[in-house]
Amino acid sequence: MKRRNFIQKIGVGSVVAGASLTAPHIAKAATQFKWKMVTAWPKNFPGLGTNANLLAKMITEMSGGRIKIKVYGAKELVPAFEVFDAVSKGVAEMGHGASYYWKGKSEATQFFSTVPFGLTAQEMNAWLYYGGGLELWRELYKPFGLIPAPTGNTGVQMAGWFNKEINNIDDLKGLKMRIPGLGGEVLRRAGGVSVNMPGGELFTSLQSGALDATEWVGPYNDLAFGFYKVAKYYYYPGWHEPGSAAEALINEKAFKQLPKDLQQIVLMACKAANMDMISEYTARNNQALDVLTNKHKVQVLALPQDVLKKLKVLSDEVVNELATKDAMSKKIFDSVVSFRSQVTRWGAISEQAYLQARSL
Ligand code: CA
Repeated sequence: MKRRNFIQKIGVGSVVAGASLTAPHIAKAATQFKWKMVTAWPKNFPGLGTNANLLAKMITEMSGGRIKIKVYGAKELVPAFEVFDAVSKGVAEMGHGASYYWKGKSEATQFFSTVPFGLTAQEMNAWLYYGGGLELWRELYKPFGLIPAPTGNTGVQMAGWFNKEINNIDDLKGLKMRIPGLGGEVLRRAGGVSVNMPGGELFTSLQSGALDATEWVGPYNDLAFGFYKVAKYYYYPGWHEPGSAAEALINEKAFKQLPKDLQQIVLMACKAANMDMISEYTARNNQALDVLTNKHKVQVLALPQDVLKKLKVLSDEVVNELATKDAMSKKIFDSVVSFRSQVTRWGAISEQAYLQARSL
């Protein structure tokens, strides 16, 4: 009797409310989602492929196994440059790549990886998470049924490996260099010859003289390719890729089928992977730079300021032209440019002033 009275006192409403909270939860817990993640990287490629692996592993572990993700290296399920379409069409539920690969879909995609003289990794995250960047990115990918999320950043890259010294802008004339994308266009306007080829072919091309120079990423990835054996000078800074962001692509329909807690887990895992990659690159670049300079006696040289100034003028031309492509590109360009001018002002008296002070 006592028990019955108690139930009557707390009221049927509470019991029903309690049940309604519990029952669907149990039902959801029983549902397991099996996802595929296609990537634009060779399987287990250091820093990038391993970030995709980490992202998949975190999602599986954070969800207690309710989402299982199988990661595919480039060409295992689809070629690197078909990742966007594969996730858009639902061939895979997730993808891992870099947004500048999709400039054929819209020139504006390039703003979400990197543009010459654009944002650093820290500035990029600030723009994406707190400066309206991520909303614009989602708007850009919405017509393709895709939800994008930043999932890593290489930090400032190196200008590249050269077999001749660069003392003034004319030294770039006729220079045959592997430098893809907008950076490549800037080199062309400086009189150079830009080519694109996969990372695996760069070593032999430098060795045979088919290439005079190549950029790749930074000490961590460049040491692994052994470029120090076939190029004399290692130039900095990577004006063309000041903070290249990796992206996760999520098929919108598949995302919407997830209960709310799993949706959050997917997005938070992307955020955690984003933090992980820049931390890893910063730490491993330091170590690799030591090996390159101390063990392999690589000559690390700064591009002369005058050369950088001229490259910046040409870069502004090239990036400004993106704004003329279509309304969406203009909207994104305006957002980035206004953010960059704000962050440049603040950065000058914070990070930049501090780093200068530290090196006095
Ligand atoms: Ca690069």
